[in-house]
Amino acid sequence: MLPFNSKGWAWARDALLHVLLPNTCYSCRRDLPFRHRSPLCDACSALVRPVGPLYCLRCGKPLPDGGAHCYHCRGSKAREYRCKIIRSAVVFGPQVRALIHAFKYADRPYLADYLAEWMRGAWEKYPDLAGAQLLLPVPLHPKKLKKRGYNQSELLACALARRKQLPVDTRSLIRRRATPSQTKFGREARLKNMDGAFECIAPAAVKGKVILLIDDVATTGATLEGCARALKQAGAKKVMAYTLAREV
Ligand SMILES: [Zn+2]
Ligand SMILES: [Zn+2]
Repeated sequence: MLPFNSKGWAWARDALLHVLLPNTCYSCRRDLPFRHRSPLCDACSALVRPVGPLYCLRCGKPLPDGGAHCYHCRGSKAREYRCKIIRSAVVFGPQVRALIHAFKYADRPYLADYLAEWMRGAWEKYPDLAGAQLLLPVPLHPKKLKKRGYNQSELLACALARRKQLPVDTRSLIRRRATPSQTKFGREARLKNMDGAFECIAPAAVKGKVILLIDDVATTGATLEGCARALKQAGAKKVMAYTLAREV
């Protein structure tokens, strides 16, 4: 017999929902156990890889064989980037891809809290991040924002900002051009494609500050570099980036 208090009713509601609409793992699609609190099953959760201790000190790309910098950041090349460092919480494997895909394209904004928890968890590994004064999500073009209904990077930035008690700025940087999909471009073309794609419309908000850009996935870092150029031009002191996932 159920006790007639709010806990009892919540249990009954959850049990009914579990029978009618069982939750499934976002990655392997197997049914999740009753009152499972994560969007991934335990087996899939165990396959999510954090970024290991060996990574490029500039762009954060994992370097399994060690070394300080990857090919693209070696020597004087590192100095040319406006985005001084990129760090990420997890490696972009199949389980992470399934979650990010649902988060971005399947109208699941509530995943932001779960994913931001990964970012909070990995934060301490990266001492550089401690210098951040302002979190700034990579903006979406207004057309894309209208279609999707929300900017996934903004949700991540807000969820992380609450956890780190840092301010977040969602207005000062805008996307002027809807950049075509980057996937078919090479590295140089991607960077070129970002010229003038972003603009800082409130320089006073970023002037003299150490800004931490927030995005869901880092691939070549071209988008982050485009944002960093606009922010540096507006007077930001330093620009770094922190993403949920890193493509390798
Ligand atoms: Zn699973
Ligand atoms: Zn690198």
